[in-house]
Amino acid sequence: MPPKFKAPRGTRDQLPADMATWRALEDNARRLAGLYGYRPIETPIFEDSKVFERGIGEVTDIVEKELFRVRSPGSEEDRWALRPEPTAGICRAYVEHGMHTLPQPVKLTTWGPMFRYDRPQAGRYRQFWQFDVEAIGDAGPAIDAEIIELAYRYLREAGVMDVELHLNSIGDGTCRPAFIAALVEHMSRFAAELPELDRHRLEANPLRVLDTKNPRTLELLAGAPRIADYLCDPCREHWDGLLAHLDALGVPVTPAPMLVRGLDYYTRTAFEFYQRGAQGQQSALGGGGRYDGLIELFGAKPTPGIGFGLGIDRIALLVSETRDSALASAHPVAIVVGADPAATAARLKLATELRAAGVAASADLAQRTLSRQLERAAREGAHFAVVVGDELEQGEVQLRDLDAGTQRLTKVADLSRELLRAHGSHRHG
Ligand code: AMP
Repeated sequence: MPPKFKAPRGTRDQLPADMATWRALEDNARRLAGLYGYRPIETPIFEDSKVFERGIGEVTDIVEKELFRVRSPGSEEDRWALRPEPTAGICRAYVEHGMHTLPQPVKLTTWGPMFRYDRPQAGRYRQFWQFDVEAIGDAGPAIDAEIIELAYRYLREAGVMDVELHLNSIGDGTCRPAFIAALVEHMSRFAAELPELDRHRLEANPLRVLDTKNPRTLELLAGAPRIADYLCDPCREHWDGLLAHLDALGVPVTPAPMLVRGLDYYTRTAFEFYQRGAQGQQSALGGGGRYDGLIELFGAKPTPGIGFGLGIDRIALLVSETRDSALASAHPVAIVVGADPAATAARLKLATELRAAGVAASADLAQRTLSRQLERAAREGAHFAVVVGDELEQGEVQLRDLDAGTQRLTKVADLSRELLRAHGSHRHG
């Protein structure tokens, strides 16, 4: 029979077999961010929709089409929305909690699910995870290089081969308007040839035309003005400084003159990561940029910031093929089995004592024969079976090494120490 219910379209269950890679990615995210001095923050997974409308921009795919809006019971309006990305919420929290009084920059990191109502396909989900890092209160460019190198290192340590950093400057409020005017002038000449979507973008948010996937628009863009030719002196200095710092850190750069990112609040530095040779939007493993205009939008004094979000689902897809999943998955050290199928209390008590002593142990609590219990212990991949029998009255059990096929009588009092020692030397040496 087909199952009656399935996970919602665009979402996935992370089954225990997937979680080994996932956990390793999460542990390393927390470890690396900590090493670099980024402190953990958690913000709600839903916010006032205005936080996203304001902080991401009303004329972006994310806000126009992809926001999961939430209506509270009895209300007529969708006041809330599930977060499509973490930066807006983190900046809202920075302002709300007066973090401008802390030593700057405030370095923050988070890990968690994001939600976008997009058309699902491989590598694109409606619920997906990001590892996110933000530095608020430093105008750069050295901090830009630090944060980019952190993302680069993370991807390499995760096992992504040939990480490619695509880097651009999108200028700021001083120089970008002249570039946009020149872009609009150039592209308007071909307005009749543009597809509907790009015509809309050209009118509503022209920079986003550079994001196009349409082949004809791409052809027309080949002859369009380049932002690099329009940067004002401070933006050019920032760009040169960033390149020098990345060079000092040994991070190779692929200039990406068309890279603008879909979010309005970005200034100057914009970047994305790819695996070399991979094509197309779905292959971006993460991206980020400078958002010097964002904090101000939340009602605080102008404060610079930079951050990135890495797409964990895509990274996991790439690296799970190369990782030794057997090594990473958790098998119990010991399973407590017994000659008397009905004596579940004795087995459970012994397993509980072993766990209290730090041994990954479980008890077979089904009332089945000893040989069935042993079969299951082997299938679970346990290293040892602890066999409870009549010897328990003398404070002893049989300790069977399922890997070696040996068995000996062991005192219950020595059991946890024995298991930890034997398991440690077996698996690591
Ligand atoms: P963005 O804020 O759109 O630049 O997203 C940053 C990163 O998150 C992307 O480079 C992807 O790796 C990942 N990402 C964004 N949207 C999705 C999605 N719908 N499904 C899976 N990963 C995503």
